[in-house]
Amino acid sequence: MARSADSAGTSLWAATAEEPAPDAPALQGEAEADVAVIGGGVTGLSAALNLAEAGARVVVLEAREIGFGGSGRNGGQVIPGLKLDPSEMRAKWGEARGRTLAGAVGAAADKVFARIEKHAIRCAPLRNGWIQAAHAPPALARVLRRAAEWQQHGAPVTTFDAAAIAGRLGTSEYVGGWRDGRAGTIQPLSYTRGLARAALAAGALLHANSRARLLRRDGAAWRIETDAGVLRTPCVIVATNAYTDRLVPGLAETLLTVQSILIATAPLPEAMAARILAGGECVSETRRLAFYFRRLADNRLVFGGRGAAGEEERESLFRALHGILARLYPDAARLPITHRWSGQVALTLDGLPRVHEPAPGLFIGLGYNGRGLAMGTLMGEWLAARIHAGLEAPLPRTDLAPIPWHALRKPAIALGIGWAWTRDRMGLAG
Ligand SMILES: Cc1cc2nc3c(=O)[nH]c(=O)nc-3n(C[C@H](O)[C@H](O)[C@H](O)COP(=O)(O)OP(=O)(O)OC[C@H]3O[C@@H](n4cnc5c(N)ncnc54)[C@H](O)[C@@H]3O)c2cc1C
Repeated sequence: MARSADSAGTSLWAATAEEPAPDAPALQGEAEADVAVIGGGVTGLSAALNLAEAGARVVVLEAREIGFGGSGRNGGQVIPGLKLDPSEMRAKWGEARGRTLAGAVGAAADKVFARIEKHAIRCAPLRNGWIQAAHAPPALARVLRRAAEWQQHGAPVTTFDAAAIAGRLGTSEYVGGWRDGRAGTIQPLSYTRGLARAALAAGALLHANSRARLLRRDGAAWRIETDAGVLRTPCVIVATNAYTDRLVPGLAETLLTVQSILIATAPLPEAMAARILAGGECVSETRRLAFYFRRLADNRLVFGGRGAAGEEERESLFRALHGILARLYPDAARLPITHRWSGQVALTLDGLPRVHEPAPGLFIGLGYNGRGLAMGTLMGEWLAARIHAGLEAPLPRTDLAPIPWHALRKPAIALGIGWAWTRDRMGLAG
């Protein structure tokens, strides 16, 4: 069986990235920085870029390659917002903070597209919106309420009944849905590399193949050890999301990780492409075992869903995913699958990202629940502002709280995924 870690190199994104891998030699010897960033994905690079622009000496340490984690492998759907709707944010955190947070996360996709424009990142940005497609009437009622709420916040929103969404998506799988015009799509590995290029240009230093193996206090500073180097710094940002290791004790136990798998077809012939995703939106659906898909500018379909619970990829789940593609788009499913890959998604029990400061000078942002492109870009900005301007993030900080029964969750997730796929095959998915 193939390992998920190895599939970073076999993804469609690795094969088509227009942005080259940035210059990032491994850290050698002793170094100092104002801020060390651990993790070379969207969160860490956005933080590094914002800090370097503010004049800080920033050093990014990445265990593997820039974009090795979720940032270089994801579906490329840039979707604003959180799992909670604006009214739920106000109910949870109070009127003022909830409103500020809703405003900030509602504008998260803007941050991505603004960065792309500012740094001329060659990542095929398209702002055609995101459709959340409802698989059943109760789910439709929920997403229509969500659409109405975001509309009140000024978002460009469209709603669809069954006939309208069938026309828009080219499948009669769904009973309706809504379109969020703030969203769009990108080539995610190119975006990540583009952020890295911009951070370098702003003065940050990047070190790939430089896993932070030890992090400890050293007087008033932090000392970080890699295999070949040592970095001393007063401030550390940890931006390792689903790839979090044992560096910060207790951090991995605050997250559950699960694979997401993706397949890409050969380009659809023009006539087929005109029927499938006619508006050019990216799509995800409301099932618990949610599938997500988009058509690229060259008419390939990229189709994703939930993978295995561990590090090994499961052949049967790729086959099952192809089966779903065949159910939605039978003619597209007859085309060759040219690429398939996977990556790890970090889940939290309440579906919300986390901001932590477990010790003076240690800042952590992660837990995107499969929606980290827009939110990670924003999180990087928040972490940077916290360090250089002392600003609190709109998302309240929390303590590092391990998920109860963490060690037992993985088998439970594996069972849950198996059960969800079975229910889906039986037409019972919810
Ligand atoms: C298959 C898949 C599809 C997805 N689809 C979407 C989507 O369409 N839209 C969306 O918004 N989100 C999506 N996501 C989620 C999104 O990819 C992530 O939320 C986002 O990339 C997180 O970015 P990050 O920078 O926080 O973490 P990552 O990009 O995962 O980067 C973390 C990095 O930390 C490094 N690291 C770990 N430990 C150390 C250490 N000790 N020292 C140094 N470096 C270390 C890792 O090597 C890794 O490169 C998807 C995820 C997957 C896996």
